[in-house]
Amino acid sequence: MDTIPAKTIVTRTKSSSWFGTEYNMNIYKGCCHGCIYCDSRSACYGVEDFDRVRVKENALEIIARDLRRKVKPGVVGTGSMSDPYNPFEKELELTRHALELLDAYGFGVAIATKSDLITRDIDILSQIREHSPALAKITVTTADDGLCARIEPHAPPSSRRFAAIAALSDAGIYTGVLLMPVLPFLEDSEENIGKILRLSKESGARFVYPGLGVTLRYNQREWYYQKLDELFPGQGLREAYEKRYGENYRCAVPRVKTLWAYFRRECERLGLLYEMTDIIRSYRLGYEGNQLRFF
Ligand code: SF4
Repeated sequence: MDTIPAKTIVTRTKSSSWFGTEYNMNIYKGCCHGCIYCDSRSACYGVEDFDRVRVKENALEIIARDLRRKVKPGVVGTGSMSDPYNPFEKELELTRHALELLDAYGFGVAIATKSDLITRDIDILSQIREHSPALAKITVTTADDGLCARIEPHAPPSSRRFAAIAALSDAGIYTGVLLMPVLPFLEDSEENIGKILRLSKESGARFVYPGLGVTLRYNQREWYYQKLDELFPGQGLREAYEKRYGENYRCAVPRVKTLWAYFRRECERLGLLYEMTDIIRSYRLGYEGNQLRFF
């Protein structure tokens, strides 16, 4: 695998409003899961050849040095611009060793992934939660493995992600679902949302955090539309998007208010959290006495 130079890997976040994380960490650059809607493909991020995964040189040494230099421990988020559990991680084990470093230096972690490879590291996540919050966020956008194979072609299917949620939850790791994006005209039915919520609950998820729509911008929009043409020929999806959203960045699903009301009603009926402040408060419960302070 190609490597890229890096000066620092664990960086301070501008705000802790996104799942209460104080730091961010990306060991890999690029992602090969192939999600057709991936925002990280946008021109503004400047990641060339996005589907090719590269690893940062001397990543573990840099992470250890970064952690030693932090004045205060905190929760380190990972998984925002590339999936930390890409297929190469199985052999490289860099995410695993980075978790060991977070554990050793007394940091918490919040992982976002689409891969059930995260269950391999339940042992270290369990060690982290002895002293700091350990949060697993598994992204699921469709309950249908067939649709999943088309729109997220190289990521494990949704059914395996629900199995991962069950394994993590059974092990006592605070786990929930990122229900984002919800693709207009493809995933925005009450049937899909309702099934994801039911399966989340049955798997032991504590929350489902939604994004009822998709973001589209320069570079990534055209990629997404080409994929819609290829994967759903004759369905007029590109035309429907162009007509409804034009050049908009935020593209909320049609009938967003109705779908939001349904989503909220179902979450409350099933006992799933869905507001960010509630999720942060809940997963951090019991750690307030530590050095970590978010509120
Ligand atoms: S897993 Fe995340 S980073 Fe990777 S292609 Fe999919 S949306 Fe992009």
